[in-house]
Amino acid sequence: MPDYDVLIVGGGPVGAALALALRDGGLAVGLLEARGPGVAQADPRPIALSHGSRLILERFGIWEALQPVTPIVRIHVSQRGGFGRVELDATEARLPALGYVLDYTRLAETLAQALDRAGACDYLTGAAVTGLASEPGAASVRFNRGGDVRRATARLVAVADGGAMAAVTEVRIRDYRQAAVIARVASGLPHRNVAFERFTPDGPLAVLPSAEALALVWTTAPEHAQRLCALPEAEFLQRLQHAFGQRLGAFTSAGARACFPLALRVATDIAAPRVVAVGNAAQMLHPVAGQGLNLGLRDAWELGGVTKECGRDEIGGPAMLAAYRARRRLDRGGGVWFTDALVRLFSNDIAPLRIARGLGLALLGAAPPAKDFVVRRMTFGARG
Ligand SMILES: Cc1cc2nc3c(=O)[nH]c(=O)nc-3n(C[C@H](O)[C@H](O)[C@H](O)COP(=O)(O)OP(=O)(O)OC[C@H]3O[C@@H](n4cnc5c(N)ncnc54)[C@H](O)[C@@H]3O)c2cc1C
Repeated sequence: MPDYDVLIVGGGPVGAALALALRDGGLAVGLLEARGPGVAQADPRPIALSHGSRLILERFGIWEALQPVTPIVRIHVSQRGGFGRVELDATEARLPALGYVLDYTRLAETLAQALDRAGACDYLTGAAVTGLASEPGAASVRFNRGGDVRRATARLVAVADGGAMAAVTEVRIRDYRQAAVIARVASGLPHRNVAFERFTPDGPLAVLPSAEALALVWTTAPEHAQRLCALPEAEFLQRLQHAFGQRLGAFTSAGARACFPLALRVATDIAAPRVVAVGNAAQMLHPVAGQGLNLGLRDAWELGGVTKECGRDEIGGPAMLAAYRARRRLDRGGGVWFTDALVRLFSNDIAPLRIARGLGLALLGAAPPAKDFVVRRMTFGARG
């Protein structure tokens, strides 16, 4: 008999969400997280959660614990140096909000606390997985904990390590030659809960409402990103003003800056015998349009569902893995295609493309059904 029905590798937001999705299934679930107990994630990235993700987190009973989050009521999309813009509006889309901004760290900690409270899984922190092997009837995992090397087996191992370990299957990689500069900034005008996505030839620049201030995700060439991080605050604000424009008045301050390298990294198959990949371990997307974690939460929710629906003996077997693949195909393919197409279409200064993009934005702005389609896909994925 394997030690667990499902063993999750990685207790980031997606691994923790999967454990919560499985908690009422009467299954033996384990979770191995490399970070030590109480070690804060200290990850400064802001996260925009979709309304669809809110519904998942409500089902886990943790939405209240995540408050306060900053709702996005409108998204303003434009391109620098080109005509055409579009505004997506929550009221038009019949949604309470188009998204909710919060810190990655708070989301990860709240999910981890919920796991601890639910006591529904064997949650081992300080457990760094170093090896994974498929055997008939089970998969086995080798991990280090407190200097000891241990082994655990499960009918199904769900890899949710953010793509840190060796991949489950072959991986397709596209290096965008872009990095994201993250910072909290303040400006002269209130944000009024509007998010801005501004496409520039170097990469998209997002300014999100975050409490009274703004969360900046500025993608640009990696060398430029490093230089931006090292600039004195006043000079950084000047460059930001030039790249973003005046829609929020003058930028007045910027907090600590951090830099994230960006690439598209897609597993060619999300399942192998007795093993499945979820979240960034399955697909690491460009942060444009804030899709990665939202897609990962849907991975976790659907894998939880498929696992609970099949008999215990079927867990990790070919039929269950085929069902999971089939459920995720459209949503996953759509998320990868959408973000990849946006980055490649907009990150250049080719005049005919700039004009075509402007026309595309103008047409989208003038066609409510098309806007509705885009908002519903961004909110709920392929099932929107
Ligand atoms: C700048 C930026 C902004 C972003 N903004 C958004 C946004 O607005 N909206 C959105 O939806 N997405 C956004 N994303 C994407 C989002 O951050 C990721 O999709 C999300 O963090 C993936 O979660 P995960 O749990 O799969 O992986 P991770 O968050 O990487 O967590 C992986 C976990 O696994 C653990 N781990 C790693 N290796 C091992 C091991 N060997 N053994 C045990 N444990 C291990 C790690 O300690 C970690 O806790 C953004 C990304 C970036 C870079």
